[in-house]
Amino acid sequence: MGNVFENITQLGHEQLVFCGDPDSGLKAIIGIHDTTLGPALGGTRLWPYHTEDEALQDVLRLSRGMTFKAACAGIPLGGGKAVIIARPEHKSERLFRSYGRFVNSLAGRYITAEDVNINVQDMDAVRKETRFVTGVSREFGGSGNPGPVTAFGVYQGMTAAVQLHTGQASGQVLKGLRIAVQGLGSVGLALCKRLVADGAQLVVSDINRDRAQTVARELNAKLVAPEEIYAADVDVFAPCAMGAILNDTTIPQLRAKIIAGAANNQLADESRHAEMLADKHIVYCPDYVINAGGLINVYHEMIGYNQENAMSQASKIFETTQLVLQRARSAGITPGQAARALAEERLGAARGLRTLNAWAGK
Ligand code: NAD
Repeated sequence: MGNVFENITQLGHEQLVFCGDPDSGLKAIIGIHDTTLGPALGGTRLWPYHTEDEALQDVLRLSRGMTFKAACAGIPLGGGKAVIIARPEHKSERLFRSYGRFVNSLAGRYITAEDVNINVQDMDAVRKETRFVTGVSREFGGSGNPGPVTAFGVYQGMTAAVQLHTGQASGQVLKGLRIAVQGLGSVGLALCKRLVADGAQLVVSDINRDRAQTVARELNAKLVAPEEIYAADVDVFAPCAMGAILNDTTIPQLRAKIIAGAANNQLADESRHAEMLADKHIVYCPDYVINAGGLINVYHEMIGYNQENAMSQASKIFETTQLVLQRARSAGITPGQAARALAEERLGAARGLRTLNAWAGK
């Protein structure tokens, strides 16, 4: 685990909660990064981490990203995230109810939702123990799976980046483009469907071979092995699987000129790999700017769900992406630095006006 306090102060976290329950087998870490804008909201990821340190690093990075995501999206929520250390086949109602009790003990400082390997049914089990959960089914008054809205936001951000890059300001800018999508889960699949509807040609990969073959067949996409997706001869690369996939090994292989995908923490090293991409003249759409659709959706669930309103707010990811990319271009900085500056501007303006208690008291 190394020095936990050094880790959390370095990245600016407020609180880490280690949750252990031998009865259910639960081993989870909840990371609350920053509650300046509101209670910390972020999904729960279930993953068979090899080490506890790997899980800790993941929750630290993911929860910090949520702070910047909410700030860039203009949503009054803070940044949080949780990880459960488990194999997907060991999921059980008992595990999620135990987890729900830990979430409840935080009395609204952290609100959870889905992330990788977690579905609506799992969140429904959490809901039986706490009301501080979103992305639950309609039966529980929820809005269901946020994946399709995330995909819609990524599509908006991708379109904005392509427009800026090509100078083509209107029309179906994705038509005829070759786009590689890595990961065909909840977000990746919904994104693929939108891209195909726009006339893009897809190259896809997924470590789940059956899923990959089915999707490729249904969408008439070219299927490549997971390790081959980076070198695919495409215009746009959309990482929609796991983080840290833009690294020393993969960046030299890239042929895409734009990276626009849903995965959180795509850059293995936030600054060095952003520079490597810039050196190759690859436009990188910061993940937390373009994948905010899911967060926007669950935020709308909290305030009284209306799908039209949620989609309308998610469509603003188009403008936010353009703003970030334009600022980066004119200031000669990376898009990541421009996005971070935008988030810090909004956080700075809100400091001292914490809205946490307003939510917690409901
Ligand atoms: P998911 O679990 O539904 O799908 C992930 C898919 O990626 C699976 O099909 C899996 O087999 C595949 N995969 C894993 N590793 C792979 C690899 N190396 N190569 C190819 N495929 C691989 O997850 P999701 O909800 O679609 O989320 C995808 C990403 O988007 C995650 O990083 C998640 O954190 C991020 N994200 C999701 C949402 C959301 O609303 N679901 C919101 C914001 C960000």
